[in-house]
Formats: sequence, structure tokens, C-alpha cells
Amino acid sequence: MVKVEPALCSYCGGCVSLCPQKALSLAETRLTVSQACNDCGLCVKACPSGALSTPKFSPKANLSLSPYYDVVVIGAGPAGSMAALHAARGGASVLLVEKRQEIGSPVRCAEGISAEALLRFFEPMPSFVASTITGAAFYFQDGKGFKLWKSFQGGQGFILERRIFDRFLAEEAAKAGVRVVVKSPATSLILERGEVKGVRVQLAGEEREVEAKVVIAADGVESEAGRWAGIDTTLPPKEAISCAQFLLSGIDLDPSVTLYYLTPGFAPGGYAWVFPKGEGKANVGLGVQANLAKEPALNYLVRFIDSIPALSRGSPVTLITGLVPLRPLEEIVRPGIMLVGDAAGQVDPLTGGGIPLAMAAGALAGEVAAGFVRGENSLEEYKVRWEERWGKRLKRNHRLKEQFPPEERLGENFLRLFAAATGAVK
Ligand SMILES: Cc1cc2nc3c(=O)[nH]c(=O)nc-3n(C[C@H](O)[C@H](O)[C@H](O)COP(=O)(O)OP(=O)(O)OC[C@H]3O[C@@H](n4cnc5c(N)ncnc54)[C@H](O)[C@@H]3O)c2cc1C
Ligand code: SF4
Ligand code: SF4
Repeated sequence: MVKVEPALCSYCGGCVSLCPQKALSLAETRLTVSQACNDCGLCVKACPSGALSTPKFSPKANLSLSPYYDVVVIGAGPAGSMAALHAARGGASVLLVEKRQEIGSPVRCAEGISAEALLRFFEPMPSFVASTITGAAFYFQDGKGFKLWKSFQGGQGFILERRIFDRFLAEEAAKAGVRVVVKSPATSLILERGEVKGVRVQLAGEEREVEAKVVIAADGVESEAGRWAGIDTTLPPKEAISCAQFLLSGIDLDPSVTLYYLTPGFAPGGYAWVFPKGEGKANVGLGVQANLAKEPALNYLVRFIDSIPALSRGSPVTLITGLVPLRPLEEIVRPGIMLVGDAAGQVDPLTGGGIPLAMAAGALAGEVAAGFVRGENSLEEYKVRWEERWGKRLKRNHRLKEQFPPEERLGENFLRLFAAATGAVK
């Protein structure tokens, strides 16, 4: 029977259409073979990525990779691409490895970013900006439904197209000389006496060792690299926000105003959001604290949407799910490795916003890595500068959140704090 190598299959569906035995079928990202296969080999020759083999015929894809880089970055989200870009700008040779076959997809984000956070690094471009935001409204839930607490005008922000934005960042890194590889997961670290000396990467189904002076772990909420280096990265469930979101189409909303619903009933320990993307579309989502959720976040989201007529008229054209880590990690540097972005829990504990922090941490780690390669500074400098610029603020917001137990997050004081953290109030 034909063998499928799932790590190589890129789900094009070509093999399914030509199998005379009808032995193949493709779910969204899973190809299965039935007993009807008679090893004729037709599909093996037609597979563009070398994912299929029979006992007699097993073609190999062949991709080259240098065995040494000054810096290897794991993960091409905003943190990883910024780290790679800034390390390359500092003169280092850089490899950026991404496990997905398309950078930025699938999206796991509501895509909101303040103008200040984006402009710190880039001008907004029509290709990756879906809408410009100039106001925000905050609702809370009372016995009868949702009531407007306050609306604000003036704070500028954007709703991004993360699929395009993340790829734009990786392209910027590539333009600066970074070697980017996709569909190439890092599988472990090369360790010598507790010091990180490189990574093992699956490239075209084959494991390669790549040595490096510095590894930057930007592998997101599912990060394993920190754990491989010996750091305890386990996330306590009370610090994990489980999210579900629909891109709703066919709704009539002001495209320049974001809406926030603070609702212990509808979203225990979290909140719901409506981030308009223009043309009658919006990211409508909700997050719940993992230890308080009695049902999957998706169920809370469906009830939330059903309760608001303007939203319930829309149709979901995309479903997005994901987890937001609300606890900033204490240990973000070990010999030979730095952790950045979601992998380091660098997310605002009040709002769950992580893009600005991922970009800032990535840029800083890239800069520090390049300085380390030039022999000018230690990697510890990343932690020191991070704490000074961002870490203290994150810890303060974490403490403030702790002062308001989930059931008390409706009072004036919390609403004000939350609104300020979203950037709507200065
Ligand atoms: C539903 C939801 C809504 C959100 N909304 C917002 C919002 O509106 N605004 C905001 O600021 N933040 C938001 N966030 C948070 C934001 O999405 C993250 O904080 C941000 O994406 C973190 O960037 P990152 O680069 O650290 O990680 P990611 O963007 O997750 O990137 C990590 C990358 O690493 C790759 N990777 C993982 N393991 C490996 C491996 N072994 N080898 C190679 N590659 C690997 C992944 O495939 C991924 O591409 C939201 C999060 C969720 C879940
Ligand atoms: S080897 Fe032939 S019979 Fe088997 S799955 Fe491929 S095309 Fe179908
Ligand atoms: S032809 Fe190859 S890449 Fe395409 S679905 Fe089949 S196994 Fe996967």
C-alpha cells in the first residue's frame, strides 16, 4: 500500500483525482489511503512534493541548507521575522525556519494593532491593512443584556490582514539577507553541557543539524524550544485564554470603531470583541479563561453572536481558534538561546494583545544576537533591556489583573483600566 509522509504532503489533492482505485481521500490537512490501493505507483510519480512512496518506488525531495549560521530563529511569526530581520541588519548570517507551508496561515489572531505599535517599525500599507480604526466602544452586561459603558474617539489603530502582514515581515527579513525555509519544523536543540549550540530541522522530511552561535525561540504559544533548553514553560490554566473567532461577513457596522464586551456571563475570565475589517466584515471573537470555561470557547461565541441582532445577521466565512498565554515568563535567556513573543508569554495580561510585544521583543533579541556574534555584548542584555522597556509594564498589568477576580471585572475601575490597556484612552 502507498505510504504517505504527512510532513511532506502539501494537501494539493492531485493524487486523489488520479487514483484509479479511488483509494485516496483528503480531509483539510490529512491524506488517507485505503486498502483498495494496489501499489500501481501513479500517484507517487504525480506528487509534486515527494510525499508518497511504494515499496518499489520512493522518490526524495532534495533541498540544500548550510550547516552553520550565526543565528537560527525558530518560527516566522511577528517575533521571529523581526528577530531575523534585526539580527541580519546587525551583520549576522541568519536562518529562519518555519514549520508551516505558508507563513501567516492559518491566522490565529483578531489582527488589531495600535498605530503607535505599527509605526514604531513600519508604515501601514494597503496590502496588509484591512481597516483603519479611530474609535472604540466598551459594553458591559447587566441583567437585561449589553449596555454601553463608554465610547472614545481619537485613538488610531489598524485591523491587519495577518496572512499578508506576517509574510511581509518574513519578506523584509529575506530582503535583508535572511535564509527563510518553510514547511521545516525545528525538532530539537543541539546541546553541549547545557549550552545551546544549534538546532535540528526537518527539511524535506530529512533531519539536518544546523549549528549556530545563537538560537532565538519564536515558536509561539505551542513553543517547545524553551522546554528543550530546560526552561519550565508550562502555562497554568488560569493564565490561558482559550479563544474562538469567526470572520463574519454580511454585517452592517461602523468600520472605524472596535467594540469590546466585558461579560462574565458570556465569557468567563475574558471578553468578546468585534474588530471591523471593512466591506461588511468583522473579526468577532471571544476568549475565556481555561480554568473557568465550562464549555468550549466556540459555544460561548455562538451564544454571544446570537444575542446581538447586528451580528447574528452575518455569516461566518472563517473560523479561527487559539490560545493566548497571559503569564510573562521569568526566564527568557539561557546560554545560547533567547525566547521571544508568545513563546516567552510576552502578551499584555489585560487585553491579550501580543503583536506589538512580539515585534518589539523580536527586534530587541535580533539586535542583541547580532551584538553577541560581533563579541560586543552578552545574551543577558536582552533580558535586562526587555525588563526596562516592557517587562515592568507587563508585570504591573499582570498584578492589576490579579487584583480583579474574574467576577469583579465589570466595575468602573476595571473598565477604565481595560479601556486604557486597549489604547482607546490615553
Ligand atoms: C484568537 C486570538 C486573537 C488575538 N488577537 C490579537 C489582536 O487583535 N492583537 C494582538 O496584538 N494580539 C492578538 N493575539 C495575540 C497574537 O496573535 C500573538 O501574541 C502573536 O501572534 C505572537 O507572535 P509570535 O511571533 O510570538 O507567535 P506566532 O504568531 O504564533 O508565530 C509562531 C510561529 O512559529 C511557528 N512554529 C512553531 N513551532 C515551530 C517549530 N518547531 N519549528 C518551526 N516553526 C515553528 C508557528 O508555525 C508560527 O508561525 C490574538 C491571539 C489569539 C489566539
Ligand atoms: S499507488 Fe495507485 S492505487 Fe495506490 S493510491 Fe496511488 S494511484 Fe491509487
Ligand atoms: S499529490 Fe502529494 S502533496 Fe498533493 S495531496 Fe497527494 S500526497 Fe499530498
